[in-house]
Amino acid sequence: NADTAMYHAKERGRNNYQFFRHDMNTRAVERQLVESNLRRALEHGEFTLHYQPKVNLESGRITGVEALLRWQHPDWGLVLPERFIAIAEECGLIVPIGNWVLRAACMQAVRWRDAGIAAASIAVNVSALEFRHRDFFDRLLAIVTETGADPACLQLELTESVLMRDVATSAALLAKLKAMGVQIAVDDFGTGYSSLSYLNQFPIDVLKIDQSFVKAIDGGMKSNGAIVGAVISMGRNLHQQVIAEGVEDEAQFAFLKAHKCNEGQGYWFSRPVEAMQMQAMLRAGVCA
Ligand code: C2E
Ligand code: MG
Ligand code: MG
Ligand code: MG
Repeated sequence: NADTAMYHAKERGRNNYQFFRHDMNTRAVERQLVESNLRRALEHGEFTLHYQPKVNLESGRITGVEALLRWQHPDWGLVLPERFIAIAEECGLIVPIGNWVLRAACMQAVRWRDAGIAAASIAVNVSALEFRHRDFFDRLLAIVTETGADPACLQLELTESVLMRDVATSAALLAKLKAMGVQIAVDDFGTGYSSLSYLNQFPIDVLKIDQSFVKAIDGGMKSNGAIVGAVISMGRNLHQQVIAEGVEDEAQFAFLKAHKCNEGQGYWFSRPVEAMQMQAMLRAGVCA
């Protein structure tokens, strides 16, 4: 609402009242527009998933994919998550959208299995509201059962802040998910202000080092890769797989490989692509 918009505008340190009003109105209008279009998008099947490969840094082989939501709007064209995920969370639409994503990812996993492509894991991003929803586990179980997907092929990506919001509830839910066979990844690792001792108590399979730390590798200074190096050795000691996100150039790739990071994901290997392109890469086993 307007108060919230005003609050955020003030928070950003903008002091001009005229600017506030303008900013406040356009934000509210944009939000309304996106929200009403999102409702229609679900009914009209405007969502699609793109896939980005995760690559074993030692062998160069694809180990799995991350499903990334795309919105094909009839007038606006391809809309990226940063334009609509936050709004979908605010108005609660993320729950039905998230169900659609989980179902679509499971259906794709089954299609790839039926096409004879070696079981590639599909990672799905789960937002705070979805994870906290009391029906989350039951709905996931229903989707996995209905689609016939192998839960072991499914990986849920959760951010630290989602996990840390209510540690006891998270731990109980993660235990149920693990018992079902689903894998758990911590997304954007290092950007939340979480306690490492709590994180250590969760059954986490994968740590995804946030892009910002990977970007810092090329800085030229030796200390720039320090955080990445520290996360890699922590993951190794805790028996977690470590994936570096946002790998864009050869220097980053070489650094990560030299430091024995397990996997990488980023434009250096492949951008997110449509399912058919991903299928061709999965068949080849390596990025095109
Ligand atoms: P994320 O889960 O951290 O996903 C990684 C993002 O980094 C993706 O952006 C991906 O396209 C982008 N990326 C990959 N490699 C590179 C690279 O080398 N350089 C740079 N600069 N970027 C790279 P995308 O697809 O726009 O998604 C943004 C965020 O939106 C995701 O961040 C995730 O938090 C959220 N998101 C995406 N799909 C879903 C979904 O189905 N459900 C929910 N709840 N959130 C989603
Ligand atoms: Mg992710
Ligand atoms: Mg991430
Ligand atoms: Mg992110």
